[in-house]
Amino acid sequence: MFQLYIIHFDKSFHGTRHYIGFTSLTLEERLKKHQKSGSRFTRGAVKHGILLESIHALGSYSDPYLAREAEIKIKKQHNSALYCPLCKDDTKYHRAYQQRIRRKEKKEVEK
Ligand SMILES: [Zn+2]
Repeated sequence: MFQLYIIHFDKSFHGTRHYIGFTSLTLEERLKKHQKSGSRFTRGAVKHGILLESIHALGSYSDPYLAREAEIKIKKQHNSALYCPLCKDDTKYHRAYQQRIRRKEKKEVEK
């Protein structure tokens, strides 16, 4: 089984507080790995003194391709906070998201 997960950082890194991925390990093992070496992105975050605070399951898949597909779908929305149980009710993130959308719309009008 492959688990899709979201990692919540204690501070924002490159404009996000989350990392989304999938793994065949248990989530606890995966988080430990991210804290030690992990992906380029989480490694960078750790180097900058950011704490990878917690990991949360987003779903499990029998096939890595399905997990990857779900991961891409979420990443494309550029609003991972909505998927984080610690952030999804935090209106601050939603506001930031709304502002980003508005800026994007404005840019498209100006084109
Ligand atoms: Zn979060």
